[in-house]
Amino acid sequence: MIYDVVVVGGGIAGLMAAIEAKEVDNSVAIITKGNIFKSNSAMASGGINAVLDKEDITQLNSHINDTLNSSKGLGDIKAINYMCKSASDIIAKLQDYGVEFDKDEEGNILQRPFGGGSVNRTCYVGDKTGFAITQALIKKAKEVGITFLVNTYVLNLARYKTSISGVVCLRRSDSSVLVYPAKSVVLAGGGYAGIFRGNSTNAQDYTGDLLAVCLRAGMVLKDMEFLQFHPTGIAKTNYLVTEAARGEGGYLVNSDGQRFINELETRDKIAKAILEQQQNGKEVFIDLRHLGLEKIQEKLPSLFNAAYNQVGIDISKELLKIKPVAHYSMGGVDTKMGTTNIKGLYICGEMAANGVHGANRLGGNSLLEGTVFGVLAGIKASKHAQFNDFLPIDYNDVIKDIQNIDKIFDGETSKNFNAIRISLGKALFEKVGIKRSKASLIKAFDYIKYLRRESYSLHCINKEKRNNVELISILELRNALEISEAIILAAKKRKESRGAHFREDYSEENPKYKKHILIKEIQKGFFRLRYEDNSILTKIRNLFINRMD
Ligand SMILES: Cc1cc2nc3c(=O)[nH]c(=O)nc-3n(C[C@H](O)[C@H](O)[C@H](O)COP(=O)(O)OP(=O)(O)OC[C@H]3O[C@@H](n4cnc5c(N)ncnc54)[C@H](O)[C@@H]3O)c2cc1C
Repeated sequence: MIYDVVVVGGGIAGLMAAIEAKEVDNSVAIITKGNIFKSNSAMASGGINAVLDKEDITQLNSHINDTLNSSKGLGDIKAINYMCKSASDIIAKLQDYGVEFDKDEEGNILQRPFGGGSVNRTCYVGDKTGFAITQALIKKAKEVGITFLVNTYVLNLARYKTSISGVVCLRRSDSSVLVYPAKSVVLAGGGYAGIFRGNSTNAQDYTGDLLAVCLRAGMVLKDMEFLQFHPTGIAKTNYLVTEAARGEGGYLVNSDGQRFINELETRDKIAKAILEQQQNGKEVFIDLRHLGLEKIQEKLPSLFNAAYNQVGIDISKELLKIKPVAHYSMGGVDTKMGTTNIKGLYICGEMAANGVHGANRLGGNSLLEGTVFGVLAGIKASKHAQFNDFLPIDYNDVIKDIQNIDKIFDGETSKNFNAIRISLGKALFEKVGIKRSKASLIKAFDYIKYLRRESYSLHCINKEKRNNVELISILELRNALEISEAIILAAKKRKESRGAHFREDYSEENPKYKKHILIKEIQKGFFRLRYEDNSILTKIRNLFINRMD
């Protein structure tokens, strides 16, 4: 089958893009590597930021300022303005698609506080906001006739000269490689925090696949060193203790029962404070007991159930032990308002570095970013598909993917890919985690280089072609290693501390580094890095966008 528009990713950004692209009479398909209901978007709990009255300039400016402050000098004012100003229309659109936000008795949408926000502006559906939104969007996507190509793993892009011509995929049901030609492609594959396996709120298959795909297509990644560590994951299971728990009044206490930080500080500050408590031999807990069972069950029902089911803790009566965990990736593919340097290719959601988060993300802003830029990518993809035709597929590229898959099946190995994936997650968290230094980054880089070499001698032990999970795991691991190298090199180049990036050997922010770090893989395993000045960039980018739009 061929589609006018192919969207890769069934999270909030991909779903919004696909629905928007379908507004015009396009054939649209959404590709997901697992089932459509599984995404980080569906796990998002706390809420989505929005100023609901778009005429309220004071509140709009406050949202813009909070977002800019959190970005630590690396935010893109045009993108942030666009996102914040679009928020009220997006909430209205989501309601129109069937999302029922929590409301007061008069029918006004309720808004809760979130870390780094100067006022209450986070709209929510209990503590299941992402689930409620994705369910409504999936229903809407089905109604409008979007095709779901699930269990389909994107391996690479198909290009013709400087334009997109389709995507090369692996069909998991029989391990065959196939191409979906398309006039426009939207990539919305989510972030890469899952590569910190064992220390991440993301599902373990969040390995930055599509960022690696973009690297292999010669595209530029931006600010890969900026990874957000969420202060509160359940210590044993990494399950996210939503920021709403602190927003609703939860305290953080150490094993001496002392509070040690303002719970509504930005995530980077809280995560670092918790790590320091741990380094001083203290355990850290979230204390929700004073909220009472009724409020907990009303506002935090999922957390109540998760704590009870996963670790046997009744949070209305007991402290819950927590630890910081890798959560969100600010870095991503360099995009300008969703547009890329490949014609017909658009990127949105967490995988896009479009400038709205800079060096740190404000909680509640990523669901907003996904929806706002998902819509924009969908509009642009639809427009491109209307005025352009299908382009030829270069089957030489496809053959490379077929040979690669054959090679993974054909060889024999005694190495365990799963052990390597766990080891990668541990090494990254310890050496490229909340605190980094030149020494730790060099150690990490050497180790990752070694793992990358090892990964090329991995083969499936099970040779069954139907739903072979080993095959996907090996491909994901290779992508994760490629992305890990990019993160470490960028982290090493940023010789300062800024936002979520903290260097023990350069513990202060340095104005000299108020720049983006761009990275490109010039040939397999060899990267070129360069700085991009934020202020000059804004001017050039504005010119560039005006031309492209
Ligand atoms: C536990 C948790 C709670 C969160 N809570 C909040 C919150 O309260 N508020 C907030 O604003 N943000 C929150 N976030 C962040 C937010 O959920 C994400 O940033 C956002 O949902 C990302 O959406 P997305 O559409 O970009 O990608 P995702 O929702 O991550 O979806 C990615 C999609 O890409 C597909 N994909 C990936 N690789 C491939 C491949 N190779 N081939 C085919 N398909 C592929 C996946 O199958 C999936 O469908 C939370 C995140 C987590 C993990």
